Amino acid sequence: MSIKINDKPNRLYPDWVPIAENEPSGDDFEKANRPEYGYCILSKSHFGPGDVLARIYGGIIKDDPELHTVQKRPGVHIYDEWFTGLVLHSCDPNTYFNPDEETFVAIKAINPKDIVTCDYQLTEDNLVRAFECKCGATNCRGLMLEQLRQLDH
Ligand SMILES: [Zn+2]
Repeated sequence: MSIKINDKPNRLYPDWVPIAENEPSGDDFEKANRPEYGYCILSKSHFGPGDVLARIYGGIIKDDPELHTVQKRPGVHIYDEWFTGLVLHSCDPNTYFNPDEETFVAIKAINPKDIVTCDYQLTEDNLVRAFECKCGATNCRGLMLEQLRQLDH
């Protein structure tokens, strides 16, 4: 892809976030509000299993989980209210978050209009609050508890 000088990239991140080549692009994703789920991220592109959807901005670190964080490792939580924090949980998700690379990777085919999902239990030791999962998967866990993982793991 060539970037022309006068092209303003279609960004999901605010202007003060340094532009990164693999950041989530507004060409590939859009923020949506669904009555049943609230805010979420919709794909605008096709991805296949193994494809990297995007590398997130990892510049804001919190000590504790918040609504819009993803856990990189215990005590290190990346704050991203513009993309990551809007990715919905599913018990049968279409992506996973790679905490070392800070990327979302497709594990299924993703098509335009699909909601981008990941399994919070794979990254988070604790949630800010418990919630009733409505993902609709046959393997849905139902209630997602605040403490997802034992502390002695
Ligand atoms: Zn579920």
